[in-house]
Amino acid sequence: MSKRNHYDEQKSEDCVICFEPRMNQRSIFEYFSNDCVCGKCRSYFTIVDDVFDVLGMKVHSLYAYTSYFEDLMFTFKEGADVALAPVFLDPFIHYLEKTYKDYTIVFAPISKEKLEERGFVPLEKMFEQIRLKKVHGFVKRFDYKQNKQVAGKRKDVAKVIARNDVSLPHKILLVDDVCTSGHTLKAMQDLLKGHELKILCVALHQTTLGKPKVKDNFA
Ligand SMILES: [Zn+2]
Repeated sequence: MSKRNHYDEQKSEDCVICFEPRMNQRSIFEYFSNDCVCGKCRSYFTIVDDVFDVLGMKVHSLYAYTSYFEDLMFTFKEGADVALAPVFLDPFIHYLEKTYKDYTIVFAPISKEKLEERGFVPLEKMFEQIRLKKVHGFVKRFDYKQNKQVAGKRKDVAKVIARNDVSLPHKILLVDDVCTSGHTLKAMQDLLKGHELKILCVALHQTTLGKPKVKDNFA
C-alpha cells in the first residue's frame, strides 16, 4: 500500500496538473465540480464545444488544439503520465453521456508499435470515466507519421487503417483525441457505411477551427 497510484491521485484534493489545491481560482459555478484540475489550470484550456465541417464530416470538438493542450497531451501519451488521463474529459462526462446516450464508442486505432512503446491505449484511458459502451473496431497496420506528410499524401492513411473482425452496433460514436487533417476520421468513416455515425474529437487543430461550423448535429 505504499505506491501512490492513479486512483489515489484522483481522490486527492490536489490538481493533477500543478499539484496545488483544486479549489484554486475556481468560480462559484465550478466550486462543487469534481474536476481533477484546479480553476487556474482549467482556464488555460480553450473550450470550443462545437461542430465543424471537416472534409465533409460533422466533427464535434471539445477543445482547440493549442500549444498548452499539445504539451499536456505529449506528457500524457509520450511521457506515459496516466494520472493526466481524466484531465481532458472531466468537465464533459455527464454532457457526453447524455448527448450520446444510445451510441457505442468506437476508438481510433493505435499501432502495435505505439502500444508496445507506451504500454497503454491513451484513448481508452481518456474515456475511462464515460459510461457508454466501448469497442475497438479498427486496427492500424503500422505507425504512420501523419504530421510529417504533405497534405495530399495524408490520404495514404486510408491504406493503414482497417476494420477488425469485431461486429459493431448500428449507432456509433467514433472518437479520436486530436483531429489534424481529418483523414484518419475520414478513413474510418468510409469503413462504417450503413451505420448511424457521430464523430467526436477531443481537440481540433487550429487550422481546422476556421472551417464552417455545422448546426443541428446533436440528436
Ligand atoms: Zn492546477
